[in-house]
Formats: sequence, structure tokens, C-alpha cells
Amino acid sequence: MSESERILHEGSTVLFQNYRSLPLVLVRGEGCRVWDADGRCYLDLVAGIATVNLGHCHPAVAGAVKAQADRLFHVSNLYVNLEQVKLARWLVDHSFADRAFFCNSGTEAVEAAIKLARRRAWAAGRRGAHQIVVAENSFHGRTMGALSATGQAQYHEGFEPLLPGFAVAPYNDADAFIRLMNEDTCGVILEPVQGEGGVIPAKPEFLQAVRAACTRRGIPLILDEIQTGMGRTGTLFAYEQYGIEPDIMVLAKALGNGFPIGAMLAREAVAKAFTPGTHGATFGGNPLSCAASLATCETLVAGAMQSGARVGAYFRARLEALASEFPFMKEVRGLGLHLAIETDTDCKPIAEACIAEGLLVNVIQGKILRFIPPLVITEAEIDEGIGILWKVLRQLGHG
Ligand SMILES: *Cc1c(COP(=O)(O)O)cnc(C)c1O
Repeated sequence: MSESERILHEGSTVLFQNYRSLPLVLVRGEGCRVWDADGRCYLDLVAGIATVNLGHCHPAVAGAVKAQADRLFHVSNLYVNLEQVKLARWLVDHSFADRAFFCNSGTEAVEAAIKLARRRAWAAGRRGAHQIVVAENSFHGRTMGALSATGQAQYHEGFEPLLPGFAVAPYNDADAFIRLMNEDTCGVILEPVQGEGGVIPAKPEFLQAVRAACTRRGIPLILDEIQTGMGRTGTLFAYEQYGIEPDIMVLAKALGNGFPIGAMLAREAVAKAFTPGTHGATFGGNPLSCAASLATCETLVAGAMQSGARVGAYFRARLEALASEFPFMKEVRGLGLHLAIETDTDCKPIAEACIAEGLLVNVIQGKILRFIPPLVITEAEIDEGIGILWKVLRQLGHG
């Protein structure tokens, strides 16, 4: 039995079986490469689900974590810590926001945003206003609040009743959103590009019309940039490409380059509804996660983000050329290095065959291949990935 087989077997006996993990045990990473327990190397076009944007074990982030680990891990929010203040300053300086709140994951950041939207309506004297308008096909996380905001039935099954107060409208249909906004509405939450839903970018007119309607009604627009933020789409945040700004934004995934951290950013007028004692998290904004995140943020804008934007156009062109050779590939779409090919077939066998050839690609919604590599990927690595994918598709008889 190989080392990988041994660990896979052990895992299958002691772990919850809630993930559909592929039979691959990863033990090490560097840049765009990862290694399994038997020493085999893989080119990684998944980056831990759009998370390791600077590449695996980036020395700036690893160094910051090591230095901070020798100084201070955790003190709680009974006290103030320097790293949390520095990270908040950086995020405020680089976004629309005036204030930051930190937590440990995306779903927790969404949860905070739902609570902030409700609390803000309450504080403004709109005591009954609790409803949040969400999009069909959205994904906002797995805790009960974030799950209730998620517009995909597959995630709800067996977990009802959901939290009341979420109204669902079709994505990219501004009239439908505006029709659902009423005296009960306290917020609208949207992904600028739907990620888990299939890499579906918002139309600019759609985001702009919803933004205008929120402003008219005095309702905060919450953008979920957990997947699209931190340079993934070519700009630091995707909203910058839409000519709008949100009132609240949630971040996680790439915010710590793989070190767990989530954040909610907001304008002062909204943030002030969270008065002392209204919300919190024991680990939120602890020095270790904030040191990792600050190093990530600084490294990102020092070049990785610009590099990602450049090679994003190259990757897209290569995917379009590939798709033109294989009739089962229907559409290439996305922004920056947030890319996907929609096909008319089950893509799981493709991802599995790619592993055997040393390539990690991601499948979502069954028939969509998603490409979300580290932003530091080179054109040569993209060529290598496309070459392997082409070979695998021929092997599987797709063209
Ligand atoms: C991943 C993701 C989440 C959930 O984040 P977790 O850290 O897994 O809780 C929420 N929203 C979007 C858009 C995501 O991509």
C-alpha cells in the first residue's frame, strides 16, 4: 500500500464523510506546485479554491506568520492588537470602506453582514425591516444565516427550516430585484461574479441599477467578494470594474493566502450600527491571522495582482483556443484569473484523468471546469496546464 493509500484509508474511517474529496493526499506546496504523500508533483490550477493567490507558502506570508508566532498568537478583543489595526488601516485605505471587522471565514463574514444590515435598519427606527434580497444560484456559505442567503436548493436539502427573511430574485435581472425591495427590506447581497454558481459575471447595468435602487431606498448593498476579491478578477476588488461601490463588503478566501481569516468592511453610516457588545468573535482579528493577511495584501499590490491581470488575458485566450477544438465545450467566461469553461458533459472524469497526468483542475455544477490558479502563475505554466488538459481530453475521446 502506498503512503497516499494508507492515509486515504485512515481518513475514510475517522473523518466525517461530508466532502467529495478526490483520492489525493497533499503534503507540500511551493508557488503553483503541490506534492502528494508519495512525492508526485502537480500543477495547481485550483489554489485551494481561489485562496492561495500568491502561490503556496509564499515567503512573505510564511515569514510574517513565523515572526508573529514568536511574538503573539492571540489576546482576544478584550484588548487591542497592533496587527489588527494595521490590517484594518490597509483595507480601509485600499477600498470604499471606513471600518473593518474581522472573523475567521467567509460564512462568518456573511453572517456578520446579515446581522449588520438588520441591526442598521433597527437602529434607524425601521424596526420590522429584516428582509434581504438575494440572487438565485448564489453561494454565501454554510452556517444557517449564510445558507438561507444562498439561492441554491441543493445546499438546503434536509436543513430546513431556513432563517426567514430572504427574498430570491434571478441574477442579472435588476427589475426583479427592485420589485422585491419594500418597507421590510434591510439589505441586498450579491456576488459581482457568481463563483460556486458557475463563474457568472454580473452585467454592469444590473449591478448599477441595483446600486441605484439601494441608494434610493437607503438600503445597504452588500457585495460578497469572498471569491472575487484580492486581485482574483484583475483588480483588487471586482466592484472597481463595475463603476459602483457597495456599502458593506465581505472578504475571506485569499485574504490570508490560505491562513484562515474573514473580514467585513463597511461605510461609517452602516458600521456605526454595531455598537459595543452587539457582535464579536473570540479569534476575530487575532495577531497571527492579521499578520498573515497584511503580508498577503502588501505582496499582492506590489506585483502579484498586476501579474494576475496580465496572464488572465493570456489564459483566457488559450482556453478559447482549446474550446474551439472541442465541440463539447460551449462557453469560456470569467474575469481576470477567475475563469471557467461550460461544457455539455460530466467533467468529473476529466478532473480525475488530469490528476493522473499531474494537473489539478476544479469542477463545479457538474459540467463546468473552473480555472482559479495562483495569480503568480506564468505563461509557461499556463501552456503546460493547457497541454496536459488537451492530452487528457484526447485520451477521453472528446475530440
Ligand atoms: C467560499 C465562499 C463563501 C464561504 O466562505 P467559507 O470561508 O467557506 O465559509 C461565501 N461566499 C462566496 C462567494 C464564496 O466563494
